[in-house]
Amino acid sequence: MARPVQYNTKVKTVEIPEGYSGEGFFATSFDRVIGLARKNSIWPLPFATSCCGIEFMATMASNYDMARFGAERMAFTPRQCDLLMVMGTIAKKMGPVLRQVYLQMAEPRWVMAVGACASSGGIFDTYSVLQGIDQVIPVDVYVPGCPPRPEAIIDGFMNIQQLVHNESLRRRHTDRYKELMTSYGIE
Ligand code: SF4
Repeated sequence: MARPVQYNTKVKTVEIPEGYSGEGFFATSFDRVIGLARKNSIWPLPFATSCCGIEFMATMASNYDMARFGAERMAFTPRQCDLLMVMGTIAKKMGPVLRQVYLQMAEPRWVMAVGACASSGGIFDTYSVLQGIDQVIPVDVYVPGCPPRPEAIIDGFMNIQQLVHNESLRRRHTDRYKELMTSYGIE
């Protein structure tokens, strides 16, 4: 006997952006549509130097599955990425390399410091370790932990998604943003 055709009417692919709706129309702003698209198609660039990178591997694997957030497309060239995920101890000698990678990313770009070392140097309060990557590049979200569990990394990623979703298209052209870049010596 043929199975009756069933339609899952509860499938929700993305949430509807804020807007106005009435009979036969729905209106929203361009910012919100772009934000929705960007938020669900982030291309991460993993910059992993040590132990936190292992947690990142777990985060990408099937059990936690970052692909659910539209972010399964890892790219290893900064020119194709919009989210720099920094994981691990960053030696001072690595600082200029990290900065160069950041500079090679096109705007708009976001940065996540994953774990205590990337956020603040962690337990390595020594002459050779950068005491937080925000000494060389601006950071949008910090994820605490040594190492952070995959759930924490996903939470950080969802915070990035919120920033991406709510960011105005004009933000990167504002004086405030230019001031932030200038404070890092970036034109
Ligand atoms: S925060 Fe902890 S787990 Fe992560 S790189 Fe530093 S020492 Fe390793």
